[in-house]
Amino acid sequence: MELQKDSTRSLGRPYRKAVLKALLNLTIFAGVLFSALNLQKGRWELALAEIGMVLFAIFVMQAIRKTEHLERWAIIFLLPFCATMLFSMMLPTSSVTVFGWVLIIPILSHLLLGRHLGLILSGIFMTLTAALFLYKHQDQPEMLAALPIANTVLIGICILAFSHVYEVTRERSELRLLELAQTDALTGLPNRIRLKESFERECKRASRDRTPFSLIVLDLDHFKTINDDYGHEAGDLLLRRVADTLRQCLRASDLPARLGGEEFGVLLTNTNTAQAAEVSEKIRSRIESMEVGFEGQALKVTVSGGIAELGVDGDSLRSLLREADNRMYEAKAAGRNQVMLPPSAELSPDPLAQPEATSRHQTHSETPDH
Ligand code: GH3
Ligand code: MG
Ligand code: MG
Repeated sequence: MELQKDSTRSLGRPYRKAVLKALLNLTIFAGVLFSALNLQKGRWELALAEIGMVLFAIFVMQAIRKTEHLERWAIIFLLPFCATMLFSMMLPTSSVTVFGWVLIIPILSHLLLGRHLGLILSGIFMTLTAALFLYKHQDQPEMLAALPIANTVLIGICILAFSHVYEVTRERSELRLLELAQTDALTGLPNRIRLKESFERECKRASRDRTPFSLIVLDLDHFKTINDDYGHEAGDLLLRRVADTLRQCLRASDLPARLGGEEFGVLLTNTNTAQAAEVSEKIRSRIESMEVGFEGQALKVTVSGGIAELGVDGDSLRSLLREADNRMYEAKAAGRNQVMLPPSAELSPDPLAQPEATSRHQTHSETPDH
C-alpha cells in the first residue's frame, strides 16, 4: 500500500490555514484602507469592489474555522481576489502601481494551493496581467520601453520559479518526513502508526464495497534465545529477513507492518479468514524453511500467529489486534509454529479442510505443549 496523498495533505493543512488566515486579515486591513482612500477620491467602483472583498474575506474567515476542505476555500477566495486585482488594473483611473501586486500571486498561490494548482493559477493570472498592461498602455510608448518591461518580466519569472522550486522541495521533504515517521528503521516495514492509518482507510473501503478484510498478527518463536545464543546483531538480521519474507508473500494491496519487537501485523484487503489462513500458512512455511547465514552459522526461526476478520471480530483496529493477539498466544500455547483462526472458521469450508493445511492451522482443540 502506497503512502497516501491524504496524509501529506492533512500534514500541510495547519500551515496552509495559517497562510490563508494571514491573507484574509491583510485583505480586510488593506480593503478597509484602500476603499476609504478610493471613496475619498471618488473612485466608487473600486471602493465598492474592495468593500465586497472585505466582506467576502470575513465570510471565508468564518468558513475555514472548522472546514475539512481548506484547499477548496483557498481557491474560492483566491479567484475573486485575483479578479478584483484585474478589475482594479482595468480601471482607467487606477494607478500603474496596482500592476505591482501581480508579484504576490505566485507566492500566495503556491503556499495555498501547492505546486500544481499554484503554478497554473500564477501562469494564468500573470499572463492576463501582462496582456492587460500592454492593452492599457498601447498608446503610451514611454510605458512600453524595452528595458523596464524586460526587468519587470524577469522579476516576475524569478518570483514564480523560486516559489515553485520552494513548494516542490517543501512537499518532498514533508513526504519524506512522513515516510520516516511511519517506517520501522530496522526492517523498513511500515510501523504501527502507518498500520493504523491504512486500517482506517481500508476499513471504509471494505464497508463501502462490502468486501472482507483480515488482519494477521505474527510473533517469532523463542526469539530471545536467538539473541542470547548468537547476539543482538544476529537477531536484527533475522528480523530483516522475516520482513523480506513477508514482502515476498504478499500482494501490493496488502500491508505488512512491524508492530514492535519481534511482532508483525499484516492487513489483507479483500480477504476473508479462509484466504488469510492460506496467506499465513505461506508465510509460516517460508519462515520455517528460511536459513539465515550469520558468521558461518545457519540461523532458523519459526513464527506463531492469529487471524482476525473485520466484522466477525469487531470493527476497530484495537479489537482486531486484541483478537488476533489472543489467538497468537493460543498458537504459542498449542506448540508454536502455527496460526490460529477465529472459532467460526472451523465451520466454514475452506482450504483448511485439506490435510496439509490443517496440520499447521490449528484449531482450539489442539493440545498445548506445556
Ligand atoms: P515466544 O515464543 O513466547 O514469543 O518467546 P520469545 O523469546 O520470542 O518472547 P519474548 O517476548 O520473551 O522475547 C522477545 C525478544 O525479542 C526479547 C527482545 O530482546 C527481542 N527483541 C525485541 N526487539 C528486538 C530487536 O529490535 N532486535 C533484536 N535483536 N531483538 C529484539
Ligand atoms: Mg516471540
Ligand atoms: Mg513478542
